[in-house]
Amino acid sequence: MPATTSHPEQRLRLERVTKRFGAHLAVDAVSLDLAGGEFFCLLGPSGCGKSTLLRMVAGFEAPDSGTIRLGETDLTALPPHRRPVNMMFQSYALFPHMSVAANLAYGLKGLGLSRAQSAERVRALLRLVRLEGFEARRPDKLSGGQRQRVALARALAREPRLLLLDEPLGALDRALREETQGELRAIQRRLGTSFVVVTHDAEEAMALADRIGVMERGRLVQVGPARELYERPASRFVAGLLGDVNLIDGRLRGPEPGGTRSVETALGNLRATGEGEAGNAVVVAIRPERLVVSGEGASLEGRLQGRLIEATFLGDRIRYRVEMANGATLRASAALPAPGPIPSVGETVSLAVPADAARILPP
Ligand code: ATP
Repeated sequence: MPATTSHPEQRLRLERVTKRFGAHLAVDAVSLDLAGGEFFCLLGPSGCGKSTLLRMVAGFEAPDSGTIRLGETDLTALPPHRRPVNMMFQSYALFPHMSVAANLAYGLKGLGLSRAQSAERVRALLRLVRLEGFEARRPDKLSGGQRQRVALARALAREPRLLLLDEPLGALDRALREETQGELRAIQRRLGTSFVVVTHDAEEAMALADRIGVMERGRLVQVGPARELYERPASRFVAGLLGDVNLIDGRLRGPEPGGTRSVETALGNLRATGEGEAGNAVVVAIRPERLVVSGEGASLEGRLQGRLIEATFLGDRIRYRVEMANGATLRASAALPAPGPIPSVGETVSLAVPADAARILPP
C-alpha cells in the first residue's frame, strides 16, 4: 500500500533490506513504505528479526543489502548519530544519579542551546509527557510508568524525524501498560513524529498502531491495519498471532452465488469467504467469537453439531469448548450478558458459522 505523504521528510522506505548472521538469515529482503506521522508496529514472535530490522534503521547494524531512506535522505551508510532518528530501549537507560531535568538536558547536549533555551525545551518535554513538577526528582523516586515517560521525553529531546521503540512497555505491569499505551498514542498524535514500535504482543500492536507489519522468520508477511489483519489474515501464522482462532482443514468446492465458497471438511460442509481453485486443500480460520453456540438445532450446511465440554465464565464473556463428532475441539466465545439461554456442559449444541466469519487460507 503506498504511504500518504503528510510529512514527506518523515516517510520511511525500506527496499529489500537483508541481514545475515553467519548462515542465519535474520532479515530477508524486507520492503516497507511508511507514511510520515504514521504509528507503525512490527509484530512477531521472539527471534523473527524485528529488533534486527529496527537496529538497521537506527544504524546500529548494517544491512548486507538493500536501502533505507527517510524522506529524501539515504540512511543506509550513515552512522547512527548522523541519522535524524532516535531509538528508545526497553531498559530506559536513564542516569540514576541525575534529576529528571538533568537527564533531559543531557539529551540536548551538543545542540548549541543556551541555558535558558535548554531549560525551556526541558519544560516543554515535561509538559508533553505530563510530568510538570517532577524536574528535581531522581529516576529511582519515580514509578515505572513515570520513568518510561522520562525516557520517552529524552528520546524525543532532539526532535528526531523518526522514533524507534523496542518493546517500550515491556517492563510495565498489565494495568500500567494499558494506560501507557493510550499515553504513547496521544503523545505521538500531538507530535506528529513517525513512531515504529517493536513488540511481540499482538494486543499491544492493535492498541497502538495505525498499521501493523507481521514478521515471520525474517520475512515481512503481511502489512495492514489491525482490523484487516485480524479479520482477513493472509496465513494461518498471521491468524494465530493476532488472536485465538479455530483452524479447520478442508477442500474447496466450486464457487457459489453471492461470492461465498463451499468447503468440505471432516466436520461437515462450511460456507466460507476467500480465494482458491476448486479441489484445492485449504484451511478455514474462524475466530471463537464468530462461532455462535446455541442449544440443539438442525444440522444444516454452515451449522455444525457437537457436545459442549467446557463453559468458562470470564465476566464479560463466556468461553466454550465444543467436541465435534470426529474428536476435534472447537473454541467459541460469547459476550455476556447473553441474549438467550446459556447451554450447559454435556449438552448437544449447534454452532452457526457465518460465511463471512470463515476465512479460506492456504494450508
Ligand atoms: P526478540 O523479541 O526475542 O528480541 P526479535 O524478533 O527481535 O526477537 P532479533 O533480535 O532481530 O529477533 O533476532 C533475529 C535472529 O537473529 C535471532 O535468531 C537471533 O538469535 C539472531 N541474531 C540477532 N543478533 C545477532 C548477532 N549479533 N549475532 C548473531 N545472531 C544474531
